[in-house]
Amino acid sequence: MTQTQASSAVRRRFALVFKSCRRLAAEHCPRLASVDVAFCSEVKGRLTGRARMRAFMHVEHEEGTVCVAPEAARLPEENLAALFLHEFGHLATDGGEAEADAWVFAKLGIVIRYEGSLDLERITELDLEKLT
Ligand SMILES: [Zn+2]
Repeated sequence: MTQTQASSAVRRRFALVFKSCRRLAAEHCPRLASVDVAFCSEVKGRLTGRARMRAFMHVEHEEGTVCVAPEAARLPEENLAALFLHEFGHLATDGGEAEADAWVFAKLGIVIRYEGSLDLERITELDLEKLT
């Protein structure tokens, strides 16, 4: 992971959540075990307004890498994990939004919900425990 201005505790938690999601996803799609994560200033890129506010990750930029906006490190774990799982769903299926979430549900048994003013990916606390 590249450096950010986030505190070391935030970075540690962020890395742990990523690795937990990757481990679970790779149980069902082994090639995902080599996926890396990197902070990327282009995630919010040229987006504006609400699309910009709810953009925290993308996978189409660097092969085998989940790119993350630095702002994502401070999201609650329920959102952070849901976003990572959604991105792993994209990588596993090479599909769009619906296919990504359908894969996460079919393989991991985890429902990704969209909640709050940003309609942001979120999983339940109970599902979060499946990652530990
Ligand atoms: Zn990127």
